[in-house]
Amino acid sequence: MSMNLTLNNGVEMPALGFGVFQTPPETTAASVAEALRVGYRLIDTAASYFNEREVGEGIRRSGVDRSDIFVETKLWISDYGYDEALHAFDKSVGKLGVETIDLLLLHQPVPSQFDKTVAAYKALETLLADGKVRAIGVSNFLPEVLRDLVDQTDIVPAVNQVEVHPYFTQQDVQEADKDHGILTQAWSPMGGITSYRGDSSRSTFNDPVLSEIAGKYGKTPAQVMLRWHLQEGRSAIPKSVNPERIAANFDVFDFELTGDDLATISGLDTGVRGGPDPESVTPEAFGRDIPEA
Ligand code: NDP
Repeated sequence: MSMNLTLNNGVEMPALGFGVFQTPPETTAASVAEALRVGYRLIDTAASYFNEREVGEGIRRSGVDRSDIFVETKLWISDYGYDEALHAFDKSVGKLGVETIDLLLLHQPVPSQFDKTVAAYKALETLLADGKVRAIGVSNFLPEVLRDLVDQTDIVPAVNQVEVHPYFTQQDVQEADKDHGILTQAWSPMGGITSYRGDSSRSTFNDPVLSEIAGKYGKTPAQVMLRWHLQEGRSAIPKSVNPERIAANFDVFDFELTGDDLATISGLDTGVRGGPDPESVTPEAFGRDIPEA
């Protein structure tokens, strides 16, 4: 069993997907094939993860029909500008070994070069009009910058992929997305970033409140967090390289959290983000060359 969401252009997308940020290229194909084997049908990668080629290999290795898989990737800021972004699409499809991408996102806004960010988005609009991508969107766009983008372009993004987990819920971003008719997709949906980049003594996976809720349902904190996203209408893209955790993170369709549980989980918000402040992303600090296919 799974669950689909309908994007603002009518395209259907699985709500629960599989992320591959920090998955080393040498294990990516196996992880992706395993995820597809246990039932995931959405794979989220990015040019800047440097594993698009291996994601494509995992898809082919799985034997699952390409048309049954929702492939999502993101253009990196070094490829912003209109012509650059069109070429970045060619690089991504070349590495993935696919002809079309189901959802193509701008990975980050670049506030200091917003004209290039807008030009890159206009390239996404062209790719959509040409049928090369089925939906377009953004990632890490805070409400003000999202408004600026919408004001300067024709097609409202289908998705805004942002950090959302119980310790950082970004209600303001979620509300802005909703006002525009944009689906919020949660990255680090289990708060993985609080473990691998934050204070490891305070990990979502060991949180006592989440553990107590999980205990009531015979589930784990990870499963409870993923279920919380799904019941609140978000897409979520958990990452794992471990076959048992890959399977467990997809085993979230046989229980239902109460409204009180949902509110309790949302109440764990600390207001502290784990990832970089989107306002601080500059080509000088974050630029990196994305190789040709
Ligand atoms: P997650 O919340 O998915 O957590 C992943 C981490 O938790 C990994 O260290 C993983 O280790 C571990 N883990 C996975 N499952 C479990 C489990 N059941 N119990 C305990 N630990 C577990 O965070 P990520 O930051 O990895 O985000 C997920 C995806 O979101 C990324 O892969 C990427 O696709 C996307 N993303 C997008 C960003 C953006 O800027 N747009 C930024 C960051 C992420 P192990 O692999 O060993 O299981």
